Amino acid sequence: PVHAVRPLIAGNWKMNGLKASSSEFEAILAGAAQLSSGIDLLVCPPATLISAFADTLAAANADGKLKVAIGAQDCHVNASGAHTGDISAEMLADAGARAIIVGHSERRADHAETDAIVRSKAQAVWRAGLVAIVCVGETQGERNAGHTLDVVAGQLAGSLPDGATAANLVVAYEPVWAIGTGMTPTAEDVEEVHGFIRQTLTQRFDAEGAQMRLLYGGSVKPSNARELMAVPHVNGALVGGASLKASDFLAIAAGC
Ligand code: PGA
Repeated sequence: PVHAVRPLIAGNWKMNGLKASSSEFEAILAGAAQLSSGIDLLVCPPATLISAFADTLAAANADGKLKVAIGAQDCHVNASGAHTGDISAEMLADAGARAIIVGHSERRADHAETDAIVRSKAQAVWRAGLVAIVCVGETQGERNAGHTLDVVAGQLAGSLPDGATAANLVVAYEPVWAIGTGMTPTAEDVEEVHGFIRQTLTQRFDAEGAQMRLLYGGSVKPSNARELMAVPHVNGALVGGASLKASDFLAIAAGC
C-alpha cells in the first residue's frame, strides 16, 4: 500500500539476547537490503547489546542505504547520578541507540511506572536527542468493561509531554491482553483505537499529530501483519516475540 506516513517496524527483544545473537542481527541487516527503501526498521535489543549492534550496523551501512537503527527499551529520567543499576538516555545514545521505548505495559506493570513517570522518561529521551516510542493500551478487563478509549485517552494525556513532533515521538498502541498471547484485536477494533489516537494527537499537536507514526503492537506475526498494517492510521508495528527471529521480523516488514 501507499503510505502517507513512512512506516516503521520496530522489534522489541525484551530480556532476550546474548552476544551470540549478533548473527540474528546480521541476518536482519542482510534482509533489510532487500526491503523497500520506504520502510524504517528499528531493533531494540537489551542494553548490553546496543553498542555491539551499533558497531555491526555502522560497518554494514557505510553508504547509509540501510534504513535500520538501534533502539533501547527503557531509560532512567535523569542524565546521570546515584541510581544503581539504571541507565540514562544519554548513555543509551552514547552506545548507539536512536530511539527508546518508554511506558511499555511490562514496565508499567512490573515497575509501577505511572503516566507521570512515562512522561518524564519521554522528556529524558528528548533531552538525549532521541526518538521516544510511548506505549499505551488497555487490559482485557478494561476492554470488557467498554473502557478502551477512556483508558487510552488518559494514558495519552498523562504520558505525552508537550512539544511532541512527528520527528521525536512515535506512539505504540499495544493492548495488554494481546501481548505475547497470540490474540489480536480485529482490524475493526484496531481501526477504532488508531483513529481515536490520531484524532487525539491532531487535536493536541496539530499538523505534527497528523504525521506522527502510530504503531500497532501485540502478537504481530508474519501471518497477520499484512492485514494489521493495512488498517487506516497504522503506520507500522512494535513486534515482540516475532522480532527475535530475523526471518519473521523481515517477513512482517515485507508485509508492510
Ligand atoms: P509480542 O510483544 O509481539 O510478543 O506480543 C509485543 C510487545 O510487547 O511489544
